[in-house]
Amino acid sequence: MLPRPMRIAQITQEAIRVKTFTLAGELVADPGQFVMVWLPRVDEKPFSLVSDDPLTLTVAKVGPFSARLHELKVGDRLWIRGPLGRGFNIAGQRPLLVGGGYGVAPLAFLASRATEVSHKVAVVGAATKDDLFFEARLAASGCEVVVVTEDCSAGEGGLCTDVAEALLTEQHFDGVYACGPEAMLDKAEELCRQHGIPGQLSKEAHMRCGMGVCGSCQRDGLLVCRDGPVFDLEPETSQSASQS
Ligand SMILES: Cc1cc2nc3c(=O)[nH]c(=O)nc-3n(C[C@H](O)[C@H](O)[C@H](O)COP(=O)(O)OP(=O)(O)OC[C@H]3O[C@@H](n4cnc5c(N)ncnc54)[C@H](O)[C@@H]3O)c2cc1C
Repeated sequence: MLPRPMRIAQITQEAIRVKTFTLAGELVADPGQFVMVWLPRVDEKPFSLVSDDPLTLTVAKVGPFSARLHELKVGDRLWIRGPLGRGFNIAGQRPLLVGGGYGVAPLAFLASRATEVSHKVAVVGAATKDDLFFEARLAASGCEVVVVTEDCSAGEGGLCTDVAEALLTEQHFDGVYACGPEAMLDKAEELCRQHGIPGQLSKEAHMRCGMGVCGSCQRDGLLVCRDGPVFDLEPETSQSASQS
């Protein structure tokens, strides 16, 4: 699969370190799938889709590659390979979406696709209010949005999994859909086990090829790029794991 060039049609500053790039092109993809973004003579890295038409990516500036992406202007080109990997698939009618950091990006795509689902709750977590983004986008897709910040500067204080835990205790949900840092996903997995409900967790790993060839994203015998990044957590597995 060769990278194809796409021009940047629009750039939106979402938060202090986060920009959204709307490209002049489209793909056919599922929420949770990702693309490899290549900048010639720089590097190639994975980014989740926020929309497939127009192709939209949201990038947090965390290191050298994302900093180079943040320097790009409208009209500049970047090169895309994808869509790649396995995405989310909403199975029930009462999903709980839990996103931390840029993990909110694929969940916004998921919410926008789940138009037939009437009761969607999205917990959006960030370190501070300046790191929050996509609350309005999720609300526009019909989600009841709960904002959580670690420093209590907006919404509820604490971790998004603390709020998810309280919601799972107070209300009935038939699935958890989560994307974010590893510790957050570990907690989300534990909550699914405790409540006996299925989960779909989007995991991270350092990727090179993005298509199951190089093995650099192997975790527990699975390739995150090919077998994931979204992994199912079934309630049967959850219950038997919690009993053992
Ligand atoms: C499937 C997938 C989807 C992604 N989607 C998005 C997205 O939508 N938006 C976004 O901003 N980023 C996303 N990322 C992460 C993005 O690919 C990395 O942040 C990328 O490495 C940034 O490159 P950099 O050179 O700027 O920073 P780097 O120098 O590569 O990393 C900066 C810091 O982040 C850590 N880090 C980087 N990548 C990872 C990783 N994969 N797992 C754990 N720690 C990591 C590094 O250890 C380092 O501490 C995604 C990653 C994966 C695997």
